[in-house]
Amino acid sequence: IALGVTTNNAAAAAAVPVQPQQHMRLEGKVAIVTGGARGIGEAIVRAFVRHGARVVVADIDDAAGEALEAALGGACCSYVHCDVSVEADVERAVGCCVARHGRLDVLCNNAGVLGRQAAPASNGAKSGGIASLDAAEFDRVLRVNTLGAALGMKHAARAMLQRRGGGGGGGSILSVASVAGVLGGMGPHAYTASKHALVGLTKNAACELGEHGIRVNCVSPFGVATPMLVNAWRHGEVDQGGTPAPVSTEEVEKAEEMVRGMATLKGPTLRAGDIAEAALFLASDESRYISGHNLVVDGGVTTS
Ligand code: NAD
Repeated sequence: IALGVTTNNAAAAAAVPVQPQQHMRLEGKVAIVTGGARGIGEAIVRAFVRHGARVVVADIDDAAGEALEAALGGACCSYVHCDVSVEADVERAVGCCVARHGRLDVLCNNAGVLGRQAAPASNGAKSGGIASLDAAEFDRVLRVNTLGAALGMKHAARAMLQRRGGGGGGGSILSVASVAGVLGGMGPHAYTASKHALVGLTKNAACELGEHGIRVNCVSPFGVATPMLVNAWRHGEVDQGGTPAPVSTEEVEKAEEMVRGMATLKGPTLRAGDIAEAALFLASDESRYISGHNLVVDGGVTTS
């Protein structure tokens, strides 16, 4: 029996394309990465391009997006201005991608804002507390982090379904959520709510789109010392879009040290490239039977 099992497993394993590390894991694929102009998104764009994908970067930071297009070359990386919270922008970005490359295989919803901790309430409630919640700020964060991803799913699914009708097949949609989508106390209230909602949205979309061969997953990072995180920790700040304040190497190292201190896994430093590796796996056919999953990249933080 043991031998039989081994043989069956070997046959099954042979059917799964296991490739050496240097294989172009996204060869021939076309992807959109929202918020891809800098930070984690930029690392994802670079990884996708390195593995053979043609990528459309959809962002509001035009200077950074155009610089990335110039650095990687327009044939494999093109930039389009797109505010993910505006449906017409999202529809246009997907339309540009299909017009340019003829298809869409992968959508990575990475664009996100952390939002502002609320000011102290007049009744003396703690800064950032629910008693001083700012409704407009709450709305802004959910519009970008949750509605933005939902709009991306909507228009990407339409493009992928059309392609399937034309003889194509499937697709992969992945979103960058956060450990704040798993645990409480990891960010401002609106951010936590937006990322929990994104994890739920991912499961719902996976249930629905599975029958069309479209996989839907998310990646949930712990702290990566991008300008977003360093500014937040330095100033209790706020990203309102646009180019973030520059951060020094020393500030980045301090943030990385804090993250290392909180992780239960000791040794490595979490970098944007680690998130890009997880995104690459979920985008590629190597994860062809994985859908509705939230892949946490957190050094064990959510298990403790
Ligand atoms: P970042 O601020 O460095 O990059 C965010 C990118 O999104 C920027 O290019 C920005 O211009 C773009 N963007 C912002 N609003 C947009 C909008 N409305 N439409 C289109 N693009 C928009 O941040 P980051 O740290 O690289 O974060 C990327 C993603 O990872 C976010 O979704 C964030 O919530 C998530 N995340 C980050 C961390 C972390 O520690 N850095 C941890 C967990 C999750």
